[in-house]
Amino acid sequence: MSSQRLIDMHVHSDNSPDGKHSPMYICECAVKNNLGAIAITDHCEINTFFEEKYNNIVFHSFFESSKARSAFEGELLVLLGLEIGQPLSNKKLADKVVSHHNYDFILASIHTPDGFNEDIKEIEYDKLDVYKFMEDYLLQLTEIAKWDGCDALAHITCPMRRIQGKYRIDFDYSKISAVTDVLLKTMISYGKALEINTSGLRQSIGLTMPDRNIIKRYRELGGKLLTIGSDAHNANDCGKGIQEGMDIAKECGFDKLTFYVNREVLELKI
Ligand SMILES: [Zn+2]
Ligand SMILES: [Zn+2]
Repeated sequence: MSSQRLIDMHVHSDNSPDGKHSPMYICECAVKNNLGAIAITDHCEINTFFEEKYNNIVFHSFFESSKARSAFEGELLVLLGLEIGQPLSNKKLADKVVSHHNYDFILASIHTPDGFNEDIKEIEYDKLDVYKFMEDYLLQLTEIAKWDGCDALAHITCPMRRIQGKYRIDFDYSKISAVTDVLLKTMISYGKALEINTSGLRQSIGLTMPDRNIIKRYRELGGKLLTIGSDAHNANDCGKGIQEGMDIAKECGFDKLTFYVNREVLELKI
């Protein structure tokens, strides 16, 4: 397969509070890295939408990504997306945000779980029951999977980046397999794609999120929709790990990936 056909479905520009580079610069780097398409999916945290002025962020992200899309036409397909955090904290607002612009692709995720004020990166995992925490997290994602405002769920095992990576807790996934199955089955029945998030490959956990066991399980249960995203927050990381993600997808029994234009499923053979 030609490297021209690599697609990165999860990239942040400097319109995200933690992003470093402009959509134009990211696209320039994406072309240099031989990507065929990228989805710019800036953050929109619904639970802090008004205090953190996400209305401005979302507006600028869409506007600047649209400009980049026109500028790179014929060279790179720029998909217009968003990563909506905690959509069910205000579903009416989340519905309004995703229908306000003509998006190609909407990712949904949880960065601040119910009952917490801090981001999952800041939680002190040695002070809580990590199994109960992960079960609650996956159950919250299960509810989000039923929301028709999103196409895919991002990094469904994101807390593991800290639990296994930073806290070095020897986590036994079999203890949460029943709840994981409920999430995966719900995603399948509601037509939501699973994301292979490759950012963990660049961090101490050294694994994709989720890792291959869960990807394989999604496939066994009948899951067909799979996206791969680097979750790059700077232009240099754009496209990183996509090839590895594709190799893992193939190993887990997938022969195609999913991408979205106008929120319609399109397939790419791998
Ligand atoms: Zn995220
Ligand atoms: Zn992200």
